[in-house]
Amino acid sequence: MSFTIQNILIPSDRAYEMVDVQIVDDHIAAIAPNLDPIGTLIDGRNKLLLPGFVNAHTHSSEMWQRGMIPPVPLELWIAELYDFTPLDPEKAYLSAIGTAVETLLSGGTSVVDHLVLIPGQELETIEAAVRAYRQVGIRAFVAPLIQDQALSTGLPSGGANREHDEYVRSTAATLALVQEAVTQFHRPDEGVNILVAPTGMQLCSDALFEGCIELSDRYHLCRHAHLLETKAQQILAQEKYGCSAVEHLKQIGFLGDRTSLAHCVWLDDADIEIMAATKSTVVHNPLSNLRLGSGIAPVLKYRQAGVNVSFGCDGSASNDSQDLLEAIKIGSILHNTTDPDYQNWITPRHAIEMASLGGATGLNLGDQLGSLTVGKKADLIMVDLMNLSLLPRTDPIGLLILGRPVNAISHVWVNGRAVVSDNEVCNVNVDELRQSLFDQSQWNPKRQAPSVAQMELHYRSVMGLSAKPLGYS
Ligand SMILES: [Zn+2]
Repeated sequence: MSFTIQNILIPSDRAYEMVDVQIVDDHIAAIAPNLDPIGTLIDGRNKLLLPGFVNAHTHSSEMWQRGMIPPVPLELWIAELYDFTPLDPEKAYLSAIGTAVETLLSGGTSVVDHLVLIPGQELETIEAAVRAYRQVGIRAFVAPLIQDQALSTGLPSGGANREHDEYVRSTAATLALVQEAVTQFHRPDEGVNILVAPTGMQLCSDALFEGCIELSDRYHLCRHAHLLETKAQQILAQEKYGCSAVEHLKQIGFLGDRTSLAHCVWLDDADIEIMAATKSTVVHNPLSNLRLGSGIAPVLKYRQAGVNVSFGCDGSASNDSQDLLEAIKIGSILHNTTDPDYQNWITPRHAIEMASLGGATGLNLGDQLGSLTVGKKADLIMVDLMNLSLLPRTDPIGLLILGRPVNAISHVWVNGRAVVSDNEVCNVNVDELRQSLFDQSQWNPKRQAPSVAQMELHYRSVMGLSAKPLGYS
């Protein structure tokens, strides 16, 4: 399948230029003015072509709880989330479809789904998400979320002697599960990738990390985890290792150029040096960090230190949407408040590069994806510059990032295949999706999470808050 996009605007070094772009099969074959047309012709007038973005960290099944969890910090939020996680793989399928559709319509051509697994139906959950992503046609990086320690171990002890339950699945069984997921589903040539993805140091043993490293090396898998999202995790790392979590992950060999780490809010200067030296990627999830009160990641420092940074929406229960353009906007301008030297601030063009090439680099695919370069994969988005939210004509990229684009992504191609065309998703009946999401949910503004009730007093104690509970218990 070949096609030619004619008279399309693309960013050039200093401004924009009008070109034709030829796509042959899965890759960009030529970019130049007035090319000989090949294949189907697509009118690019009054449109802007960009490399597709990467939604570099999300949890698709959280869609079932978006807008629902009250404003509480991560450690309480996650207890509430787990109490009400959907237990039906068909729901996992629907929320993966929904996550993919929202990602595509906000400029994403790839999604990293740190997928929460249904206990006892782990492979069925992965199968459901993979089926959804294959159907939609988005490039999928499915990262089965694993841990081998009980949720209560994720809180610092504060010196208290606390008893913890055994986790429901052994470390060995968990690693065997990931191995099986690789065998069944890891098909990079078909746009489906499995990652090793321990949830983070707060809930994982070294044995689990080391098993993941071994699988990653054996099958050339990327590595993904949460890292120092909250102040509580920083305290926990000192209790657990006697050093920072970053130092520990370096020592056990988890960091590297195939490793992307979500959040990275509580890193100090020494940690940042390690991130740069190991070529690890930071996935910035600004909306989740604000929603959960986690803090502001030192993204300008990362950039100055040469650390690769990409953007993620994070799951829809801590954001509570999958609008990648919104995450890119907030994740850029948020940092203007952290450094008075405006020469360090993130410009709209920087933001585009972080979202595309930065995302690809974090998945060890910077040589194949993430820029408008002849020979690279045709993962492309086309922006409608006649869209009301992008008028009047000023700077297209400036307004795309700093404005509030509404339904502005008119076309999306992944691996040279159209997945959004004339603002319509090609492979999903969105009306049916809306009806299914409606039918399988209910208005439910009030609910009680028993796990939060159990954890709240301890959380308040170790974080130095007054003993007054919020009302969970
Ligand atoms: Zn997350």
